[in-house]
Amino acid sequence: MFQVNEVEPNVFRANLLNENDINSYIQLHSIQTKTSWCIFSSKQSTRYVCRKVFVCHHSAFQKKNIKENVKGKSKNTNCLAKIDITIKLTTKDTCKKDPYVKDGLPAIITFTNAHNHTLTSGEALSFLRPTDDIRCMFNGYFTSGLGISESIKIHEEKVELKYGINSTELANAHVNPKYRTVRYWYDEWKKIHLGPQNGDGVFQVSIWNNTFIYY
Ligand SMILES: [Zn+2]
Repeated sequence: MFQVNEVEPNVFRANLLNENDINSYIQLHSIQTKTSWCIFSSKQSTRYVCRKVFVCHHSAFQKKNIKENVKGKSKNTNCLAKIDITIKLTTKDTCKKDPYVKDGLPAIITFTNAHNHTLTSGEALSFLRPTDDIRCMFNGYFTSGLGISESIKIHEEKVELKYGINSTELANAHVNPKYRTVRYWYDEWKKIHLGPQNGDGVFQVSIWNNTFIYY
């Protein structure tokens, strides 16, 4: 089980301990976000356990130039999306300097979310960042038995009461999340509370307080 905590925008600390863990994590991430990644570089050093950089499979890396791609079969869109994973050494010194290493999260995962092509909804939604508070409120609505539309209605009424009926907050996705975001939250909530809805629930991903937990 991997624990992946967001420590700043697009930077996560995780309990990946070796190259195998990195590969398993990328596999899970690819399934979850419906993306594909190619290994761009893989290095070992005395300064860290290992570092691996992955680029989106729509990147230009090891692919035909767009102009040469006359048949249009190449996946190359010059996509610049990247995942950079470094696992720091766990030593007395690094534990002292880096509290995350001390807490068993020696891996630093940095995402460059620069896809220049259509993303599947799974990935697009995973990069939406409505505030955690709002998501917690919606989990509360779901727990008290409300469905998606009912929760949105109740929430909108709350936003109206707080900010006024003509407020910009009503249109602000951070305060008043879009239907598809709420539906995604609801599906995730259901997976945790009611179990997977289909037979292929091989693993589940739950996101609480910016912590991704892969089972
Ligand atoms: Zn891409």
